[in-house]
Amino acid sequence: MYYISENNFSRFLQICDDDYDVFLPVKKGNNRFFTRYTQQIQQPVVGEVRTSDPLKAFFFRAREKVARDFEDGMPAESRKPACIVGVKACDLAGFKVQDSVFINNDYLDPFYKNERENNLIISSDCTCAIDTCFCLALGIKPYPIENFDINLTPLENGYLVEVGSEAGIKIVEIHSQLFTEPNESQKNERDTIREHTKDAVEKNIRNYTIPLKDKFEGIIEKNYESDIWQDEASTCVECGACNAICPTCHCFLLYDQKDEKKMERLRIWDSCMIKDFARVAGGANPREKLWMRLRNRFEKKFDFFPKIADIYACTGCGRCVSACPAKIDIRNVLKRLVHNVYK
Ligand code: SF4
Ligand code: SF4
Repeated sequence: MYYISENNFSRFLQICDDDYDVFLPVKKGNNRFFTRYTQQIQQPVVGEVRTSDPLKAFFFRAREKVARDFEDGMPAESRKPACIVGVKACDLAGFKVQDSVFINNDYLDPFYKNERENNLIISSDCTCAIDTCFCLALGIKPYPIENFDINLTPLENGYLVEVGSEAGIKIVEIHSQLFTEPNESQKNERDTIREHTKDAVEKNIRNYTIPLKDKFEGIIEKNYESDIWQDEASTCVECGACNAICPTCHCFLLYDQKDEKKMERLRIWDSCMIKDFARVAGGANPREKLWMRLRNRFEKKFDFFPKIADIYACTGCGRCVSACPAKIDIRNVLKRLVHNVYK
């Protein structure tokens, strides 16, 4: 473990900017968004809570050119790898799902793998909770324990630094003059911050009576024919925001575009809430109704992924709660599903 002062951390970011496109969270109103680093950014929000935009956008891009003309191989890459600062544990947990789809499966996605191998993740502990945070209900702590290169705990005038990968070890060793040994009081400060944040998330779980993950087993199957799906889907406007914003959602579609000179194949995010998502040639649609698509969304998250990868495809980040214009609240849906089984 190390300590880095705020001044040295600013210098560290400047150094990282030589080799990476550095992104860090800034606050706009009550929300936080990743933005491209410049030295003019005075107040990055390294602590606090997750950004509104999900980390997956740096690894599984919303729009990616995957082929050009009839050339073999990947289209030439012009961007530098990304260094993403201030990533939170609920986003890192999303890697378990994304990795199982794009890497640990029958087909390996070279674009995703490339980003996973080359991007640098400087994560950070949450130092508070907003009322939509419920990571602990899914067994995810509000501070990173894996899948980071370097993790920061924001302290009074600097950061406690934990290294989590070979890439993290290397970059800290190269710039060792910026890091010092932490003292006991700094380590204690980290424990206090972590306890305080856990308390805040637990309070959310109590206030909203959110069920914990040990109650999720079998809730989709047992509620498969329930009226809950139609009831919950009745206000959905089919915008797909819940999928786009989710750190675990990974569906995409491919389309070709051409002009007089070239043809390009693009991959863009798709949404299982959109009517034509599952439509097949000839026009048949196995999930014609909106409520079927909502049920499918929950089935994938709480039934399919536990079966194939032993993980829930929800990290309790609460983004879909904030993003849904129809106010469909995943915490409430889970509560109703669990209640229906355990009443
Ligand atoms: S389903 Fe909602 S709460 Fe769960 S990870 Fe996705 S956006 Fe976050
Ligand atoms: S964000 Fe809400 S309204 Fe939009 S598709 Fe998802 S559930 Fe429906």
